[in-house]
Amino acid sequence: MRVVIVGAGPAGLFAALELLRNAGEKVEVIIVEKGKDIEERVKSTINLELPAEEGAMDVLCGVGGAGFFSDGKLNFSPVIGGNLLEFMSREEANLLMEHIADIFRESGFHIEFPEDYGVRELQRNAAKAGITFIPVKQYHLGSENLPTLVGWIKREITSLGGKFLIGREARKVNPIHRILELDRGNLDYDFLILAPGRVGSNWLSQICSELGIERKFNPVDVGVRVEFPSSLIEDVIKVNWDPKFHIRTREYDDFVRTFCTNYNGFVIKENYGDFICVNGYARKDRQSENTNLALLVQVGLTEPVENTNEYGRSIAKLATTLGGGKPIIQRLGDLRHGRRSTWDRIKRSIIRPTLLSVTPGDISMAMPHRIITNILEALEKLDKVIPGIANDSTLLYAPEIKFYAMRVKTNRELETSISNVYVAGDGAGVSRGIIGACATGIIAARSILGKLR
Ligand SMILES: Cc1cc2nc3c(=O)[nH]c(=O)nc-3n(C[C@H](O)[C@H](O)[C@H](O)COP(=O)(O)OP(=O)(O)OC[C@H]3O[C@@H](n4cnc5c(N)ncnc54)[C@H](O)[C@@H]3O)c2cc1C
Repeated sequence: MRVVIVGAGPAGLFAALELLRNAGEKVEVIIVEKGKDIEERVKSTINLELPAEEGAMDVLCGVGGAGFFSDGKLNFSPVIGGNLLEFMSREEANLLMEHIADIFRESGFHIEFPEDYGVRELQRNAAKAGITFIPVKQYHLGSENLPTLVGWIKREITSLGGKFLIGREARKVNPIHRILELDRGNLDYDFLILAPGRVGSNWLSQICSELGIERKFNPVDVGVRVEFPSSLIEDVIKVNWDPKFHIRTREYDDFVRTFCTNYNGFVIKENYGDFICVNGYARKDRQSENTNLALLVQVGLTEPVENTNEYGRSIAKLATTLGGGKPIIQRLGDLRHGRRSTWDRIKRSIIRPTLLSVTPGDISMAMPHRIITNILEALEKLDKVIPGIANDSTLLYAPEIKFYAMRVKTNRELETSISNVYVAGDGAGVSRGIIGACATGIIAARSILGKLR
C-alpha cells in the first residue's frame, strides 16, 4: 500500500514516522515537498536579516516546513495551536501530547516542563488589566536545534524505507484513478495525506473545490508584529517563554491575542508569492535587543462572504501594494497621531528595527479601522502587564495574517469526504502550531493504520 504525503512540515513528517514505525513493510511512504532540503535551507539562514524574496520563501517551504526557522516554542497543550478535543477525549489528547514529547526526547532533547513559576501573580496582574493570561506547558527548543531535530526525523523516515521527493510540487488530485499529479510526472496512491501548511492553504482550497470536498471558514487572524525593547518583557517571559494573553476590546467587543513572542528576536518576511506578510523568529546564536510578538485580531465573516482567507489575502495585497512590495513599518506614536512614519522618524525612535527590508508608512491606510482600533486598545491594556509596550517608540510591522482560516470538512480521523484522502496541519485549518500540526499528522496516520489492519 502506498501512502503519499504532500508537505514535509511537522504534520507530514510525523504522519510518515507514525506510519513507518507501525506498519513496517506493509506501507510505502512518499513525501512530496516543493521547497528545499535541510542543508540548503540552513545555508539560507545567513540571508535572514535582509531576506531576499527567495530567502523569505525558504522560511515557509522545505523539509521541516514553516517551523524550521522558528525558535521552536513547543506548546504541549491540546487546546493551544489547534483544538484536539474536536477529534478525541482530553485523556487521549494528553496521551498524544506525551507521545509527541517522547519522539522529541528520543531525538536527544530533554523535554521537561518546569514547575509553575509566577503564574498566579501574572494571572492576577493580567486580570486587573482586564486580560486573560493562559498558562501553557511549554518547551523552548531553540532555533539552533531545529535543523538537528528535523535531520534526525528525516533520517528515521528514510532508514525505515520512507522516500522524499524534494523540489517537486503537487498540482492536482485524481481520486478516481488515485493519482497525484506533480509538476513533473504523476504518483499513484492508495492513501493521500495533504499537509501543505499555510503556504499551501489556497492550493488546498482549490483542490477541495475541484473534488467537491466541503470547506468552512474559521475566523482569520489579522494584525501586526509589535517590536519593543526586550527589557520590558523580562519578568513575563520568566513565567512563559511565549506568553498567551487574550484580550476583549471595548469598542467592538472583539477578540485579540498575543502570539509567537520572540525574545531578543528578529522580525522576518513571509513571501506568499503575490503578497508579503511578517512573522518573527529568535535564535540563541544571534540575538537582538528587541522582542517581537504578534498582536492578532480575530475576524469571522458570515453572509454574504464567508471566505475569511480571501478577506485576509485582500488586506495583505493592499498592504503589499502600499509598501511597494515590502511590509509597512510604523512607530506606534505615528499611528496614534495619524501620520505616516518615515526613516527619519524611525531613526528618532529608541528602538532599532530588526527587519530593514520594509517601507515606513501608515498602517491605517492598509487595514480596516476596526482592526486598527482593536490593536490600539489591546496595546493600551497590555501596557498594564508589560509596562512600556504601548510607548510611542514601539514599532509595528504589517501585515501579520494567519492563513489557517480555511477549514476542510473531515471526520474525526481527518479523512475527507473522498475516501482515503486525508488532511493534516495548518493548511487544512486543523492546527495552528508545530505540536498541533504533529498531532494532526499522527491522527491521519493512525486512521490509515487502522484501515491497513
Ligand atoms: C517564522 C515562523 C516562526 C514560527 N514559530 C513557531 C513556534 O515557535 N512555535 C510553533 O508552534 N509554531 C511556530 N510557527 C508555526 C509553525 O511553523 C506551523 O504551525 C507548522 O510548521 C505547521 O506545520 P504544517 O506541517 O501544517 O505545515 P508547514 O510547516 O507549513 O509545512 C508544509 C510544507 O508543505 C509544502 N507544500 C505546500 N504546498 C505544496 C505542494 N503543492 N506540493 C508540495 N509541497 C507543498 C511547503 O513547502 C511546506 O514545507 C512559526 C512559523 C513561522 C513561519
